[in-house]
Amino acid sequence: MGQIQIMDDFLSNKIAAGEVVERPTSVVKELVENAIDAGSTSIEVILEEAGLTSIQVIDNGHGMDEEDALISFQRHATSKIHHEHDLFRIRTLGFRGEALASIASVSKVHLMTSNGETGLEVYLEGGHVKEKKPGPLRRGTDLQVKQLFYNTPARLKYMKTIQTELGHTIDLMNRLALCYPNIAFKLRHHDHMLLQTNGRGDLQHVLAAIYGVSNAKKMVAFEGESQDYKIYGFTTIPEITRASKNYMSIFVNGRWVKHYTIQKAILEAYHTYLPIGRAPITVIHIEGDPHLTDVNVHPAKQQIRLSKEGELMQLIEKTIHEAIRSHMHVPEIAKPK
Ligand code: ADP
Ligand code: MG
Repeated sequence: MGQIQIMDDFLSNKIAAGEVVERPTSVVKELVENAIDAGSTSIEVILEEAGLTSIQVIDNGHGMDEEDALISFQRHATSKIHHEHDLFRIRTLGFRGEALASIASVSKVHLMTSNGETGLEVYLEGGHVKEKKPGPLRRGTDLQVKQLFYNTPARLKYMKTIQTELGHTIDLMNRLALCYPNIAFKLRHHDHMLLQTNGRGDLQHVLAAIYGVSNAKKMVAFEGESQDYKIYGFTTIPEITRASKNYMSIFVNGRWVKHYTIQKAILEAYHTYLPIGRAPITVIHIEGDPHLTDVNVHPAKQQIRLSKEGELMQLIEKTIHEAIRSHMHVPEIAKPK
């Protein structure tokens, strides 16, 4: 008999978890993205010890029926893509069907979900279903991840301080709130409310909640369109800058991405207005046909490959440059003659 065997699902999920679940923030990201994909208008995240003890995400999305809820913890279980060609027109944040399987394999999960007609409560340990019973009928999903990495001590040891882990999650939640102003987000850590947005769709309101009212007031709106892309957002006037490029949030089709060339285009829009080594606070939303953006580059889906990149860069540089320039001209026009 040969030596090679196909590994069982529990083992392969645990291996995949190494990539998908790097730290508590990765769990928050996957769970909140699922809540967004479920059409939620309100998403609450509650953490204990920066998520190492408990991460709970409560949404008011479409929920799951019993069959879906149980299968959702299996690897490659997804309701979001069904065919190969779907991969080129992804409109949801998830599609790989591996987040819940990976998360469940390295934690203890308590799930309550309802589609409004049936309700289910499930408890899993290391991906194994331990308990299952009918649950409340409140439409939506309430998923709690406890004792993350309890069965992968090496990963647990690698975790930084509570403050560092919490910092990553606050940053993530801020970006998600900026990305989805029409969703009411709450982030709570023990007794502290760390973020709260009203979900009324006002991006400037979210900016004020995150960067303070006075900074938000010093941001100019921009909007532009080319043949294939549409962009809009806010960016600070050159007097308000930061020493880090981290304050530039880039969203492509509702996904927070890191993209060096887009960052560069934003900086170039400022020409000489920006002091050397400084960057603005910017929120840019980019929309284009999903077939122009390949998000299947890495499991975390934060990197994307763009088609017609040159066209987009020109659009960004021109639109933001004009917004800043017209703003800088305002005081001159306003001067009494
Ligand atoms: P993916 O998001 O890539 O499809 P996941 O493992 O994150 O994979 O989730 C598996 C499936 O479970 C999803 O496709 C979705 O159908 C269902 N699901 C997960 N979270 C929720 C939620 N909060 N509300 C409704 N359905 C959910
Ligand atoms: Mg998902």
